[in-house]
Amino acid sequence: MDIQLSDSARDWQKKIRRFVEDELIPWEEHAEMHGGELPPDIFRRHHEIACSELGLSRMDAPLAHGGLGLNMEEQVAIWEQLGRVTNALCWTCFPESQQWMFEACTPDQVERYISRLMDGSSQDAYAITEAESGSTETVNSTATVTDGGFLINGEKWFVTSGNRAEFLWVQAKIESGYDSLFLVDKDSAGIEVIDNPAFSHTFSAHHPTYRFTDVFVPGANLVGSEDAGMSYTRSWFRHERLMIAARCCGAASRMIEEATEWAKTRRIDEQVLADKQAIQFMLADSATELWAARLMLYEAARAHDQDENIKSLHTRCAMIKLYCSEMANRVCDRMLQIWGGRGYMRSNAVERFYRELRVDRIWEGSSEVQRMVIAGSLLKRGLEGM
Ligand SMILES: Cc1cc2nc3c(=O)[nH]c(=O)nc-3n(C[C@H](O)[C@H](O)[C@H](O)COP(=O)(O)OP(=O)(O)OC[C@H]3O[C@@H](n4cnc5c(N)ncnc54)[C@H](O)[C@@H]3O)c2cc1C
Repeated sequence: MDIQLSDSARDWQKKIRRFVEDELIPWEEHAEMHGGELPPDIFRRHHEIACSELGLSRMDAPLAHGGLGLNMEEQVAIWEQLGRVTNALCWTCFPESQQWMFEACTPDQVERYISRLMDGSSQDAYAITEAESGSTETVNSTATVTDGGFLINGEKWFVTSGNRAEFLWVQAKIESGYDSLFLVDKDSAGIEVIDNPAFSHTFSAHHPTYRFTDVFVPGANLVGSEDAGMSYTRSWFRHERLMIAARCCGAASRMIEEATEWAKTRRIDEQVLADKQAIQFMLADSATELWAARLMLYEAARAHDQDENIKSLHTRCAMIKLYCSEMANRVCDRMLQIWGGRGYMRSNAVERFYRELRVDRIWEGSSEVQRMVIAGSLLKRGLEGM
């Protein structure tokens, strides 16, 4: 089941597969039993390989800024391999500077914040969601003008990597009514963690809730123009939706491979499990859905590389995120069933994926939100314009 990839994307695929299998996967069970944490020297090693040797923290950063300037096909090939790992060991070992940040940020912001994501010396987190607005774009947090900058007030929920971040991308409404984006140092006075809930997965990156009370942000930390906050957030959504889809494909591949091997050796009633047709059907449906998902994924990545229409790309990212995340959850359920009781053990990757993949149908816009984006596009532009 091979997708035609450029030589360079194939090289990345091989390199990342080695990193995943030799360095990350051996630590999954340890992470599972230790709240997602690794021994500090192991974490440092992963970080060093990801940021310095492989340059993953700058894969999407433009060449002109010292990034790798990889195209989307290459990046998707990378994230697909990273998706084979559980416990978020793949993305918690490096921060990611994204191309849109270089378009949105001033040279001073690039120097103070983004260049430090590129070399892996800092970590960011996105504070967009609020108590009243996860699926809608309503922003209740406010940024009022004060001497030299803004005062931010509000509450932000589910801020992934909040515990590790040095700075936050915060969306807040300014007096003219625009939803603007700000770079906010996490140690600014007036920021407090009001909750740090436990979630289904065992990740070292937590998702705390923050309250902002009169948090001063210098005017120099407004990102782009006042009216552009939402468009940057959408750029971030497109990128994340594509890469979530890629990770879901990687996870599904690993689960299918491992369950197939297991089914070939497990004997029940003098027969191997793999000879039973009901089991074969589960494997067949899963492999077929994965194949469809990967074709969609790489087509969309190439459409990005050809600079196709932004609205069409936005719709395709919604479709891919919807299809790949739901596919991976269906595959996971079937593969766990093939493993039987052994699939319910936390030492089995399929059990961890069973908990971890669930959020891919919720974050970066739930499946229902993706369906709304797709339907909206169909109704406005028809199939031709999607
Ligand atoms: C682990 C985790 C990490 C996260 N990380 C971040 C982060 O780093 N930064 C950030 O800003 N946010 C983050 N989020 C927030 C995430 O994006 C939201 O949870 C998500 O968008 C859904 O919003 P909600 O939880 O408020 O659900 P709600 O908006 O309350 O929706 C509840 C349910 O109703 C459905 N629904 C809503 N509207 C409709 C409709 N019109 N028709 C049909 N169904 C509908 C939704 O699909 C959902 O199933 C994270 C969430 C989680 C769980």
